[in-house]
Formats: sequence, C-alpha cells, structure tokens
Amino acid sequence: MMIPVRCFTCGNVIGEHWEEFKERGREGDEDPAKVLDELGVDRHCCRRMMVSHRDLVDVVSPYQ
Ligand SMILES: [Zn+2]
Repeated sequence: MMIPVRCFTCGNVIGEHWEEFKERGREGDEDPAKVLDELGVDRHCCRRMMVSHRDLVDVVSPYQ
C-alpha cells in the first residue's frame, strides 16, 4: 500500500516526503534519522509513519 498522506496521530502531512525519504534514507546510504531531520519531520509520531512503512503495492496488486 501507499504511505498515508497524513500522520495518524497528529494529522501532519507526511506523504509528500515519502519518495525523498525512500530514495535517500531507505535505498540510499544516508542516515535515515538525518534525512528526516532535513525534511522537517521532527515529531516522533510522524517519524514512525515513515520508518515503519513498507510499500506493498507490487506485492498485493496481482490479487486485485
Ligand atoms: Zn505526527
């Protein structure tokens, strides 16, 4: 599934940062914590949305 547009807890918009976080922090070689700091995602509730998310679109799409 795609990342939720807003944080479940505080409602802050976080979906707009997902692609950059994925490229730099997940698949790149930068420290994910530093990438989140630079993106301005500084609340714990928002950071967990990004850190704990997995893109499952490609896994689920054959069954729809
Ligand atoms: Zn939040």
